[in-house]
Amino acid sequence: MRRKLIAGNWKMNGLSRDGLALAEALAGKLEEARLAGTPPSCDLLICPPFVLLPILRSTASDAEIAMGGQDCHAAESGAHTGDTSAAMLADVGCSFVLVGHSERRQDHGERSKDVAAKASTALSAGLTPVICVGETREERDAGRALDVIESQVRDSLPSAGGSGEVVLAYEPVWAIGTGLTATSADVAEVHGAIRKVLADLRGDATAQATRILYGGSVKPANAAELLGTADVDGALVGGASLKAEDFWAIATAC
Ligand code: 13P
Repeated sequence: MRRKLIAGNWKMNGLSRDGLALAEALAGKLEEARLAGTPPSCDLLICPPFVLLPILRSTASDAEIAMGGQDCHAAESGAHTGDTSAAMLADVGCSFVLVGHSERRQDHGERSKDVAAKASTALSAGLTPVICVGETREERDAGRALDVIESQVRDSLPSAGGSGEVVLAYEPVWAIGTGLTATSADVAEVHGAIRKVLADLRGDATAQATRILYGGSVKPANAAELLGTADVDGALVGGASLKAEDFWAIATAC
């Protein structure tokens, strides 16, 4: 049985005061729910901007909220000005890292093979990579969504032989920050196709154990339906993860 994962991608939002207030509000809600004997039945993950990670570390770890980076470099260390290594993320308390988010693919020209290299380095550093894939509006309108997603998954997975958990996240580019969401039927179709590719590449047992998240305008109002869709093992939440109330409402919709 796959335990659902609700992940908040804060993107480039929030100064230290805002980030700390958000993490503390979430920790407070978790604490209350635990005391009431009604903890959420999912794992919680926050992915704040890099500079906030050390500031949020103790709040997150005390509340058992996992932390992740939003990206890492494919190299272990070296002359890569402005970049952050997977080991650095682990060192400040991260257990996850997002790789291949469509905003990285768009803004930084990341290709799937770069994403695979990052995922591989993340695994070596003991992190769980959350590998993001998704089609553009044009690709979906042209009937190419499944082809695009399947090849992104094949090319973005770290080379076989690497061990450790990976998480996949399906985020249709046209649904990110737009208020548009894919229909349940489309999400079920894509998640099923991703699991099939995983089974092909890694075998059935791994495919069945791998969590596949949906992302793209997830909010309290649509969370229960999306999280109840076949093969959806959690959510990768952008905008709604910046409000403790909304993120909590999504987590409790599991
Ligand atoms: P929104 O939830 O704001 O659409 O963002 C989704 C996303 O990109 C999460 O990684």
